Amino acid sequence: MSSAAVSPTDSLPAAAARTVVHKFGGTSVADAGRYRHVAQLLLAREEDVQVTVVSAMKGVTDGLIEVARLAAAADPAWETCWRQLRERHHDAAVALLGEHAATTLAWLDARFTRLHDVLAALAVIGELPQEVLDRVQGLGEVFSAHLLGHHLQALGEDADVLDARDVLVVNHGELGVDVDWAASAAKLALWRQSHPARRLVVTGFVARDGKGHTTTLGRNGSDFSGAIFAALFAADELHIWTDVDGVLSADPRVVPEAVQLEALSYDEACELAYFGAKVVHPQTMSPAIERGLPIIIRNTFQPQHPGTRITAVSAGAGPIKGLTLSPDLAVLNVEGTGLIGVPGTAERVFAALRTAHVSVVMISQGSSEHSICCVVRHSEALRARDALTQAFSHELAAGQVQQVQLTEGVSVLAAVGDGMAGQPGVAARLFEALGRAQVNILAIAQGSSERNISVAIAARDATKALRAAHAGFWLSPQTFSVGVIGPGNVGAALLEQLRAAQPQLLARARLDLRLRAVVARRGMLLEPCAVAGDWKAAFEAAMQPTDLDRFTEHLLSARLPHTLIVDCSGSAEVADRYPAWLAAGIHVVTPNKQAGSGPLARYQAIRDAAAATGARFRYEATVGAGLPVITTLRDLVDTGDAVTAIAGIFSGTLAWLFNKYDGSVPFSQLVTQARAMGYTEPDPRDDLSGVDVARKLVILAREAGHDLSLEDVAVESLVPAALQQASVEDFMARLQDVDAGFDERLAAAKARGNVLRYVARFAPGQAPSVGLVELPGDHAFANLRLTDNVVQFTTRRYCDNPLVVQGPGAGPEVTAAGVFADVLRVAAGEGARL
Ligand code: ADP
Ligand code: ASP
Ligand code: MG
Repeated sequence: MSSAAVSPTDSLPAAAARTVVHKFGGTSVADAGRYRHVAQLLLAREEDVQVTVVSAMKGVTDGLIEVARLAAAADPAWETCWRQLRERHHDAAVALLGEHAATTLAWLDARFTRLHDVLAALAVIGELPQEVLDRVQGLGEVFSAHLLGHHLQALGEDADVLDARDVLVVNHGELGVDVDWAASAAKLALWRQSHPARRLVVTGFVARDGKGHTTTLGRNGSDFSGAIFAALFAADELHIWTDVDGVLSADPRVVPEAVQLEALSYDEACELAYFGAKVVHPQTMSPAIERGLPIIIRNTFQPQHPGTRITAVSAGAGPIKGLTLSPDLAVLNVEGTGLIGVPGTAERVFAALRTAHVSVVMISQGSSEHSICCVVRHSEALRARDALTQAFSHELAAGQVQQVQLTEGVSVLAAVGDGMAGQPGVAARLFEALGRAQVNILAIAQGSSERNISVAIAARDATKALRAAHAGFWLSPQTFSVGVIGPGNVGAALLEQLRAAQPQLLARARLDLRLRAVVARRGMLLEPCAVAGDWKAAFEAAMQPTDLDRFTEHLLSARLPHTLIVDCSGSAEVADRYPAWLAAGIHVVTPNKQAGSGPLARYQAIRDAAAATGARFRYEATVGAGLPVITTLRDLVDTGDAVTAIAGIFSGTLAWLFNKYDGSVPFSQLVTQARAMGYTEPDPRDDLSGVDVARKLVILAREAGHDLSLEDVAVESLVPAALQQASVEDFMARLQDVDAGFDERLAAAKARGNVLRYVARFAPGQAPSVGLVELPGDHAFANLRLTDNVVQFTTRRYCDNPLVVQGPGAGPEVTAAGVFADVLRVAAGEGARL
């Protein structure tokens, strides 16, 4: 190859000089290693002019504010605090610069000595003037810029450090920080004449005011510094480097499922930032908007990730881009009949707040004008209340204004997106999601730009609300905190079915059923996150004493939008808990017949609690296991049909026994066989007594709207009185005593061309009964598969030809599937895409 070969770029037309401004947040510059990483990242780029704005090392600004406060309070701890800050910078300089560290260390020492003098003076005067605080809290950026700048120089780069206090002039106005563009540009041009380096490292956060005093751009202000210098340098792009992949649909610390947004409009980014998305400072957008400068938010730890591009246009599907929370707020409500139709009330409210220097985060007024409500910062709330009480003192005295009410502990949840403009149903979706998660809304506001809907809520609901809304807009799956009680046959089968279905539910239905607790009689397992995989092993490893109060608390503590308890126990005590659970908004799904067939008062309390909160109580699997018996009955009733009779065979065990029983094998032997095959309860008397069938009949009658109790049902027990108290073994041994009686009844029935079946019957106005009856050989109940259940509904619509639900009505697998189906119905009701 000839030595005269041209480099590939020589043949390209000369591109206009490219200037890119980078801003690295404190999260990107925590220690020497991170500075080195940042330097490598910068050196790998090819822009012609590279301006890098840096924040203080992570936590340093907080540390500086703390040390100033301690000193001003004459707390001797300030010395230690100061020493720690000095050491941290010292250590970083040594680790970063090695043999080149001497000048930087001397430079740092001089700064820290001066800081020490300032702090000592504060300790003497015993107060902290804003001007001094500004000077102290901005030092972290000065140190940080020098560390990175000196490192680049030590690497032999053509680099310089620009202390923004030397060029940036700002004023603090009512609307925040105002940049004096002309003065700043002039100073920068002058500075540039003597500092022509290709790479510049600039201090973020700090500036000087019109009087020449050091000031700052407010917490998180280095993003704003980045945008200001991008404007001053007429940059082509601003890259804001942080510790996440860009702007996410919600704060990832609250909503771990938050998704990264590829693109945002300036307006969207503004709203998100203003309402608390810490990832970018709200004022950052203004210098960019004027120049159409693209802002790219990206991850220092994943430099290859494209990040989020913020430009003039919005892109992406869905009406909502992101959700944010603003914490530490309060609601003020001015309320009174005297306000109705009186012009100028709102103006008086705002004038009063303005005079008191209270900034209003959100306003809302009902069209009745009966009240006006505003959201203010918690720190300004008392001042705001006093100002309003003062402003309306006349009306308060005259009774035209009833009160100025202050509610503290408030957060504002904001949903943001350009796509919501002109699209109906967005607010509905938000309110629905919040309502379902039992979040009460204190006030609502929608900007007329229709880019933002904000709701004020109690701070204690904030996390749950954000997650519920996030899922409500399908930005993340609908998530349920799930607890299962009674991991016996059905419970264990359910847990297995849940585990197996999980991936598909997540992927296809965006439904996340997070098993977080399993309760057995002998102990319980409470997991912080979710029991993934083998719950049995986890149960044995981390079992603790069973305590249903702790279990409930644990399920609610996750602050997931929805909580669901599946009760697979047969326990009445657990059923006693249902009303309180439902009242707390917890859904209850169960195959336990206790609630549906137990005392009417409890049943009513359960219904009332569910109606009050909208939490659901479902128990399809109590009758006919997985068969859709109760759902069918509900549909009949809900559509206005009237049930005139319910009859059927509700026990798979009894169905099998009488289907088999033709006289060839004695009845007692069939019971023994059924027991051996697992068709009966461990004590077959539980089946033969008929009580279980009677319970199912009560459940169905109640569902059809009748106040039936178990005592009202005439139950024919197939267990002779003499054997009721015996042990199971005794009972089985003496069961043949019943054979003769059964043979007689069978013979009599056969003589009439009939068969024997154990049937339950209910009809309004007639005595409900459960017992052994003779049916004609061609009756529907006489011709079933061996263990099938059958339920027959005669209604006004289905009068000549009753509606029949029939099929296998027992077994852990199908029962668990019935329970699972109920769980999914609850989830669908909460917005899962099933
Ligand atoms: P830096 O020091 O880089 O300026 P910040 O801590 O100020 O970093 O901001 C980045 C953090 O903002 C992220 O780590 C994240 O936890 C938080 N954050 C809050 N809301 C959002 C959001 N909507 N998108 C991305 N990050 C967010
Ligand atoms: N260091 C400043 C702060 O912590 C500014 C910034 O990091 O953006 O607020
Ligand atoms: Mg920041």
